[in-house]
Amino acid sequence: MSAVQRIRGGIGADEEYWLAIERGEFRISRCRHCKSWMWPANFRCGKCGSWDIDWEPVEPIGTIYTWTRNHAVSEALAERQADLPYVTLLVELPQAGGARVAGVLEGDETALKIGAQVRGRILPPSDKAKGYGSVVWSIESDAA
Ligand SMILES: [Zn+2]
Repeated sequence: MSAVQRIRGGIGADEEYWLAIERGEFRISRCRHCKSWMWPANFRCGKCGSWDIDWEPVEPIGTIYTWTRNHAVSEALAERQADLPYVTLLVELPQAGGARVAGVLEGDETALKIGAQVRGRILPPSDKAKGYGSVVWSIESDAA
């Protein structure tokens, strides 16, 4: 499909996240034993030490924890050159224990501010995302 090479040998503890995204599902890891949300993903729960992890479906709705406008890209992100300038968000998910996920903002930016409510949309794997699926976020106009 693409000339872009995915990361060899898998990603690590967050591999299930990327596999779910590829299926069009947004999932965050959670300890099966103590129910703590675990993000960034880990192979073992940092609270109770359990190795039993679930990947729970989460509605991709959150609030902007912080954001930045990118005016340049490194060689490693050359696929994004045509998108400049673009905004990257760190989105906080209250329904997943306050987990924070990164993603690019799409659409209207007039209500862009910390605390604004955003909704994620899953994109299929693309060259731009190094062969992975991704989640792009847009500001919910009625909540801004
Ligand atoms: Zn636990």
